[in-house]
Amino acid sequence: MLELAKTDFAVFNAISLEELRQKEGLELIASENIVSRSVLEAAGSVLTNKYAEGYPGRRYYGGCEEVDKVEALAIERVKQLFGAEAANVQPHSGSQANMAAYMSQMQPGDCLLALDLNSGGHLTHGASFNFSGRLYRAIHYGLQRDTETIDYAQAAALAKEHHPKIIVAGGSAYPRFFDFVKFREIADAVGAKLVVDMAHFAGLVAAGIHPSPMALADIVTSTTHKTLRGPRGGLVLCKEAHAKAVNSFVFPGMQGGPLMHIIAAKAVAFGEALKPSFKRYQEQIVKNAKSLAQGLMEEGFRLCSGGTDNHLMLVDLRPKQLTGKLAEEWLGKAGITVNKNQIPFDPQKPNLSSGIRVGTPALTTRGMKESDMKQTAKLMGEALASGGDEAVLAKIHARVKEFASAFPMFANEGE
Ligand SMILES: *Cc1c(COP(=O)(O)O)cnc(C)c1O
Repeated sequence: MLELAKTDFAVFNAISLEELRQKEGLELIASENIVSRSVLEAAGSVLTNKYAEGYPGRRYYGGCEEVDKVEALAIERVKQLFGAEAANVQPHSGSQANMAAYMSQMQPGDCLLALDLNSGGHLTHGASFNFSGRLYRAIHYGLQRDTETIDYAQAAALAKEHHPKIIVAGGSAYPRFFDFVKFREIADAVGAKLVVDMAHFAGLVAAGIHPSPMALADIVTSTTHKTLRGPRGGLVLCKEAHAKAVNSFVFPGMQGGPLMHIIAAKAVAFGEALKPSFKRYQEQIVKNAKSLAQGLMEEGFRLCSGGTDNHLMLVDLRPKQLTGKLAEEWLGKAGITVNKNQIPFDPQKPNLSSGIRVGTPALTTRGMKESDMKQTAKLMGEALASGGDEAVLAKIHARVKEFASAFPMFANEGE
């Protein structure tokens, strides 16, 4: 970024300091990851200059020969990665992918059944203030109080009562596997379409760790930047029968020109995900999550549902009489980044919350292993026992810097 340093120091400086923050900190936000230099180069390429409304071979603009190759590669690779019949790689984000999926199967006013936001669902699963809750009549299933796992019986009962057009399986803060066989049965019983939103666990699906939704879902949506470790963006996979509708609702239904630089970066990330090293990476994410979970329990925290099957966990802070808001703040001062998160049946309001959500994809990309997770849990335990004492947190921060700096940002290179 030599040019930017000369032409716009304010922006250059902020980017440089952000890079330093990422290098020196422990990134535990479950939805974040660190892309390879190759993905970064594609995302920062001259493809950002190109208008390419339409699809490969059917564009509304001239000069699309090269970007056509790039998008065709992205589509081929992602189909291979997930065993999908059809793919659309143009959605600008996971939210856009969901919007296209919904528009392809529902009319405004139709009923949508999905996991409740407070139980680990997502804004685009029918939150009242989101497009999904404003355009559609959203009904929500939740968790069983005792196990804190999905209440499939409740989902089935709600489906029978409300006859949704779409049932969504997937979420942003659910530490267990989703049972797509059960969701398919529930959908079939009422003639609903099954949309699986694998935004969080797509990388685990690609690696064969989380059961694949491909054979059971009508439409699968995802982000590309979470466990999948690509650029910020979205995608839709579906059966051939739905491909035409999905494509036409992505463009021209919902978006204009695709972000060709990001599609190039998606192609690179899908190529990386097809390599054997990606499977090992995903396996390490899960091993690290189990190790971190164990470490946090040893520090005296309770984990919702008793642990994790995937890349993330929900930490219940009530045994320590702490709120998520305070924990996020104290950990932040120690260089450990997490987000506050409501726990199932949380007595606290969302802006306080009784928990934090913690995930291992980013630290695993940096090359951390199980023993490093134990060290991370210890540092978290100390920061959360500090009572917010600035001097104590500053000392922990110094140790975090030294610890994190030993792991390169681009550990996934050359694999
Ligand atoms: C992150 C996420 C999304 C949306 O992704 P954005 O790219 O932020 O729009 C959608 N669904 C689920 C389940 C997610 O976790």
